[in-house]
Amino acid sequence: MSYPYCGRFAPSPTGPLHFGSLVTAVASYLEARAHHGKWLIRIEDLDPLREPPEATGQILHSLECHGLIADDEVRFQSRRHQAYQSAIEQLLARGKAYRCSCSRKQLQANGGRHPNHCRDGNLRADSSPFAIRFALEDESCQWQDQLLGPQHQEIHGELDDPVILRKEGFYAYQLAVVVDDIDQGVTDVVRGSDLLEMTAPQQQIYRALGATAPGWLHIPVILNDQGQKLSKQNHAPALDDTKAPANLFEALVALGQKPPPELAQQSASQILEWGQANWRRDAIHLTSQ
Ligand code: GLU
Repeated sequence: MSYPYCGRFAPSPTGPLHFGSLVTAVASYLEARAHHGKWLIRIEDLDPLREPPEATGQILHSLECHGLIADDEVRFQSRRHQAYQSAIEQLLARGKAYRCSCSRKQLQANGGRHPNHCRDGNLRADSSPFAIRFALEDESCQWQDQLLGPQHQEIHGELDDPVILRKEGFYAYQLAVVVDDIDQGVTDVVRGSDLLEMTAPQQQIYRALGATAPGWLHIPVILNDQGQKLSKQNHAPALDDTKAPANLFEALVALGQKPPPELAQQSASQILEWGQANWRRDAIHLTSQ
């Protein structure tokens, strides 16, 4: 069976799921269901230094408790290094990526330009240690977000070039997310608006790899009482998996879906069913982004 729509939830396992990540997961799940599409889970475990070993298991357990079950096997980016390496080789061969030994300090002191001219391919493969950066093209990028409408971002080649392989040998998010979304046939990305400015550079990576970019829908990030994004850094509490129905009900409220109060007494799967049958993308609040 072929699916015209394929969405995904792609958490980085830096800690257990919190309410903000649940809202993103529910939004991507309901968008996929509303399109009669497929929904995937991908664990973006690229940085073992920032990932407590128990986090992946906690995230998958939480998602299951909340009835958020993927249509395919869960993918782990930690098992995909070969695919990222071959994408990097393609990009290097096409002149779309370069080896860079510049430190942040050097770049800062030089106004963001690369003092060793590594962007011109001057750095030999044996100089160590080096990162690999994607060579952005100067661009006035215009694109349409499915919720936020027309977007415009100025891209400055060299100054904004993202690292795609870190000096420590870890593949970076910017590359891996694109390689896997292409490989998994993701047609539509639903994610938090904290990633909005990653979108234009990612569109260039799609192009450089000869692929078509997906549709994007960025949802407002959930803020805590101090107006900060709910995140592990801001000590967002882990979701209580024993309160899945209440959490899901609150996630629908946060997404502006106005669930009827009596729904709060139902099971997780009944709440998701209601969410699916009544999903209104244009009801998502735009105020807190
Ligand atoms: N792994 C990223 C994060 O947890 C999200 C990736 C994406 O949705 O593009 O912030």
